[in-house]
Amino acid sequence: MSRIKDAFDAVAAAIIAQKDYLSDIDAKAGDGDHGFNMARGFRAAQEKVDEMDDTSLPGPVLIKIGKALIQNVGGAAGPLYGAAFVKAGEACDEETRMNIKSFEKLLAAAIEAIQSRGRAEQGDKTILDALIPIHDCFLPENVEDKNLFEVLQEASKAAGDGVNYTKEIPAKKGRASLVGERSIGVEDPGAVSTMLMYRALYQFLK
Ligand code: ADP
Ligand code: MG
Ligand code: MG
Repeated sequence: MSRIKDAFDAVAAAIIAQKDYLSDIDAKAGDGDHGFNMARGFRAAQEKVDEMDDTSLPGPVLIKIGKALIQNVGGAAGPLYGAAFVKAGEACDEETRMNIKSFEKLLAAAIEAIQSRGRAEQGDKTILDALIPIHDCFLPENVEDKNLFEVLQEASKAAGDGVNYTKEIPAKKGRASLVGERSIGVEDPGAVSTMLMYRALYQFLK
């Protein structure tokens, strides 16, 4: 038992609870499996984290989660999320604390992992359309004199705005890009799963 493990359990529970919704929106422009893929991966990741003797440090837990996602989530999003968790875990060090600076660093590592593999940009209707706005809230120039909880809350709103933006644009990456303009009007499943994960973490921490 640890607070890090409990936080991850909250994130996994949110994804598992919204499995059908995530697959339903994926069915509108993709192949309808995003919720199924993610729920399977997060259940596997929970089992792996349960087996760990020591979950007191974020780095090893994040790496364990990422590897489980890579191995257990089929489709495009699994390896991308998996790499994001692994790289965020590798970005942890003895300076990693629950603070704005650490959030900024881990989120930047996650974005870099996803972009180096998926080659998507903001506006391509992907995970990044939620993740980049979340990360932006933690940048020093946007933080000013806010405390961690104000920034966490702002990022929760930014994630929702990012998801809404994905409704207005056509997909340029992933399976939904095959239907082009027909993907307009539907939110991107990966952006929604990112928002759900982030909001579950926010609700856990606040
Ligand atoms: P698949 O499309 O292979 O069935 P999923 O349905 O699990 O896989 O995941 C689809 C999601 O993956 C999309 O909604 C999108 O957010 C994300 N995605 C796809 N390609 C990329 C990419 N190149 N970069 C970032 N995210 C991507
Ligand atoms: Mg799919
Ligand atoms: Mg698929």
